[in-house]
Amino acid sequence: MTPLPAFADNYIWLLQHQQQVLAVDPGDGQAVLQWLTNKPGMQLDAILVTHHHADHTGGLADLVHATGAHVYGPALERLPVPHTPVSEGDALAWGPLHWQVLDLPGHTAGHVAYWGQPQAQAPILFCGDTLFSGGCGRLFEGTAAQMLQSLDKLARLAVDTRVCCAHEYTLSNLRFAQAVEPDNARLAAYTLACQTLRAQGTPTLPALLGQELQINPFLRSRQDAVRAAAARHAGTAAKDDAEAFAQLREWKNQFK
Ligand SMILES: [Zn+2]
Ligand SMILES: [Zn+2]
Repeated sequence: MTPLPAFADNYIWLLQHQQQVLAVDPGDGQAVLQWLTNKPGMQLDAILVTHHHADHTGGLADLVHATGAHVYGPALERLPVPHTPVSEGDALAWGPLHWQVLDLPGHTAGHVAYWGQPQAQAPILFCGDTLFSGGCGRLFEGTAAQMLQSLDKLARLAVDTRVCCAHEYTLSNLRFAQAVEPDNARLAAYTLACQTLRAQGTPTLPALLGQELQINPFLRSRQDAVRAAAARHAGTAAKDDAEAFAQLREWKNQFK
């Protein structure tokens, strides 16, 4: 699995099986084509798209034109190229892998993720802009209740799942996470580890789902400490889980 950097902080995830390559959310087609020219014999044959934003779809036309790769994308969203529409419950075969599609409304209305379990390896999740290490996507088209449900769905996946997020937002997310949970020792240790990685220019991803459950405030919005901090910041106690989550998301939107 290769996180190919694109733009300021995107990753285009690439997966190889023998001579076949799978790309996820190629916002920049030239970056992928350049990578392929350095891998003689490799063929881009499939592309998975999580949602319609341009930084995830901008390279589709170039890549389909240059390689004829088959595109899979969310059934509820428009993409710039013809694609096989997928939604929750669908399974796609690619190489030795079967990808299960999950519907994750919140960041966009039709956002999907792809989860697969390679033989004798930890599972892989391509979750686009829904879950980030230490954070979650902004609510552009969905509600806090929808995003909470989507994150709950991801939280039920195998804890050894490797979480392939589409942006390197980890350090800024962790600054916010520490403001929410200053006493979380695992969060402090994880922050140090990620700072070291970034200082070396190394991606902090993939993240590990089991770790995220311990440090990511948006996966921990029902924890007393997280809920209390969000309520303190909002100046009012939340009446339910969705409102507590909304308080947390709103706090993060304003956090500097
Ligand atoms: Zn997006
Ligand atoms: Zn994005």
